[in-house]
Amino acid sequence: MGIALSVKDAIYVWYQENGRHDLPWRQTSDAYKIYLSEIMLQQTQVKTVLERFYFPFLERFPTLKSVAEAPLDDVLKMWEGLGYYTRAKNLHHTAFTCKGILPRSPEELGGLKGIGKSTAHAICAFAYHEPLPILDANVKRVLCRYFAISVKDEKVLWERAWELLHVKYPYEHNQAMMDIGALVCTPKNPQCDACPLAFTCKGKHAPQLYPQPVKKAKVPTKKRFALVCEREGKLGLIQRKEKLLHGLWGFIQVDEKPEGIFLGKVEHTYSHFKLELDVFKPSLHVTIENYFTCKEIEHLALSTVDKKILKLLNSKK
Ligand code: SF4
Repeated sequence: MGIALSVKDAIYVWYQENGRHDLPWRQTSDAYKIYLSEIMLQQTQVKTVLERFYFPFLERFPTLKSVAEAPLDDVLKMWEGLGYYTRAKNLHHTAFTCKGILPRSPEELGGLKGIGKSTAHAICAFAYHEPLPILDANVKRVLCRYFAISVKDEKVLWERAWELLHVKYPYEHNQAMMDIGALVCTPKNPQCDACPLAFTCKGKHAPQLYPQPVKKAKVPTKKRFALVCEREGKLGLIQRKEKLLHGLWGFIQVDEKPEGIFLGKVEHTYSHFKLELDVFKPSLHVTIENYFTCKEIEHLALSTVDKKILKLLNSKK
């Protein structure tokens, strides 16, 4: 089935009039800045990235080369609070692997750690105006509704994304599709009246059916204990080795309830589980190599849950 040019043109015109042109990563053709924004936006809202992370990160690391030359700890520090730290580690790894210069081809880009096919296409479409479609979460929803696709199937969605792509204006087309997903064809209450795809959209009579909602499994709760060990006014921290939060500094966590003074509770919800921590000052000796002053801790990359523990400690002073 061919797609009439008119819907592609309608998307293009809609973007000219309604697109979020002022987003800073749309005001540049620097592939690194576009790549950074794509990675930051993968799991995080535009508002958060814009207000808290994008500019400070670029100030500290203005080029991919500067990321490649920095220790991972520094990159993690600038990522602190953004979560999903694998993104920062992959960025650092990729910067190092390609010696600070991103390759131009989508195939080579897609072979780098943390850069999937859609991100590779986004970099090429936005930095070099290459005629490639993208397929992020918002675009998937728009495609599912426009083509009345009930089950999200990557292969089918890529075919549809190619079909709808305006090859003459790939930059505008892809930005428009993301904006339509974010502003018009929203998960709840899509604004079909304001949508440039409405006149040929197959799913507009029952958008909630496309794609069919998948029941989310309830996230399990893990109960653990955090140990606050002090020595000469300094706090004992470890650098995490486990996959989740690898490389970040934090308080020791254990599964067994320790002997000691109970200081309070902190909670944090990750994508796949909720962590409930009872925070203790242990009465028995715990071997920790590294102790830091509060000033020194400010320079370490800590996860959100460990920051919550620090806040708890400060509230007790
Ligand atoms: S017409 Fe409605 S359902 Fe179809 S793509 Fe636009 S907003 Fe989504």
